[in-house]
Amino acid sequence: MTSLEYAPAPETTKPQIREHYGLFVAGNWVAPQSERYFDTVDPSNENVLAKVAYAGAADVDRAVRSARKAYEKYWSKMKPAERAKYVFRIARAITERSRELAVLETMNGGKPIKESRDFDIPTSAAHFFYYAGWADKLEWAMRAGREARPIGVCGQIVPWNFPLLMAAWKIAPALACGNTVVLKPAETTPLTALALAQIVQEADLPPGTVNVLTGDGATGAALVEHPDVDKIAFTGSTEVGKAIRRAIAGKKKRLTLELGGKAAHIVFDDAPMDQAVEGIVNGIYFNQGHVCCAGSRLLVQENVHDEIVVRLTERLQTLRLGDPLDKNTDIGAVNSKAQLDKIRELVRSGIDQGATLVQQSCALPERGYYFPASFFTGVQQSHRIAREEIFGPVLSILTFRTPDEAIEKANNTPYGLSAGIWTDKGSKNMYVAERMRAGVVWCNTFNLFDPSSPFGGYRESGFGREGGVHGLREYLAH
Ligand code: NAP
Ligand code: MG
Repeated sequence: MTSLEYAPAPETTKPQIREHYGLFVAGNWVAPQSERYFDTVDPSNENVLAKVAYAGAADVDRAVRSARKAYEKYWSKMKPAERAKYVFRIARAITERSRELAVLETMNGGKPIKESRDFDIPTSAAHFFYYAGWADKLEWAMRAGREARPIGVCGQIVPWNFPLLMAAWKIAPALACGNTVVLKPAETTPLTALALAQIVQEADLPPGTVNVLTGDGATGAALVEHPDVDKIAFTGSTEVGKAIRRAIAGKKKRLTLELGGKAAHIVFDDAPMDQAVEGIVNGIYFNQGHVCCAGSRLLVQENVHDEIVVRLTERLQTLRLGDPLDKNTDIGAVNSKAQLDKIRELVRSGIDQGATLVQQSCALPERGYYFPASFFTGVQQSHRIAREEIFGPVLSILTFRTPDEAIEKANNTPYGLSAGIWTDKGSKNMYVAERMRAGVVWCNTFNLFDPSSPFGGYRESGFGREGGVHGLREYLAH
């Protein structure tokens, strides 16, 4: 089976990109006290998109002071229903500028435009809409008799795989509860966070309520260390999450950690096979596999293993890899050279340890960072590709015979963020789902998100929840 040839269908909307970006502090664009700037690139062609300010420790201090002032003077004092109007305004602005934001997200991050357009941006707006509605109903999130009070100044650090969406997950509930924010986007994907800062400025939030500091890991570390930050909300790798926890141990700082994952995706022999195969494809190849909850460990019942491998091999050849701005593209660019190197290294380890690699056969663009959709068969539990997060379009396939063996293998991981189950039988679904040590379990679907639904991890995937009323409580004082 070969795919039809599609004519190119590039997105033509041109987002506004400035040559230089300052830091967004106290409602203004300011030059960094570090006096440093760095380039941000388009990973699909390696072109430089803009120069972005680098926030050093002095800049972090300035932003935290501005957030403190905004907290004391305006935001925590404002009537909740008034606060809600500002959060609604941000939601509406994201919706109005959705196409431009989608193009920007794709250019800076490498993800296909159909994903940024149909998932990242609408889901970001949905989080602001959802939490705006909560702002004047906070007592309903509390146990009876408890007053709903904000925490204070929140330092929020986000990764590069869903840049605007992760910022929305963090900023929307923080603001609704009356907290102020210093956001640190990932080094490789600052542009939609800076566009969000523009939206915040246009929405006329009191100066300092939201501050955006671009920079690198050291900027994030300075924010974590700052003595006047009341809460750190972090999404990123388990390694950095552990370092953050050590850094703030013994201090009076709240912490939530959303870390890595190596999700089990379990397919029983009675599953609806066409849907399951689409679920597997969505589970691992969505956003080039740069997804913390990706279904990266496929556990298939032994008697349907060969059928699934045949179907998946055919399906791989129909995925279109290429220009992320083309509306027909399924697999875009890997976010950075460093990430591409990490994927290649882990794939090499899979081959060296004896697993069999199957890849889509297609020409890769000459410039930019690309990796073809891939999967491994013959994987053992002990292989690195079965244990470590690859964070790329690479699936590891293992087998099982009974539901209990599937459960045992699925839980045999230090992570516990998500899991997926495919079976026609409701009772089997419930039996297995109940026993998954994972924050989210999808049954006969995968990668479904809604602002009203909590998301978060177990064990080395972190703690705390984002989304829903659970996510709201993470921004209220105990
Ligand atoms: P990362 O290296 O941990 O970076 C995440 C963020 O932390 C970035 O903004 C990063 O800045 C910053 N940072 C780096 N070192 C820091 C330090 N010492 N102190 C404070 N901040 C620091 O993770 P990544 O490689 O960008 O993202 C991929 C990881 O995130 C994967 O493991 C994935 O599973 C996880 N993730 C989890 C979730 C979830 O909800 N559980 C969602 C998405 C991603 P730089 O950009 O400059 O490095
Ligand atoms: Mg990093």
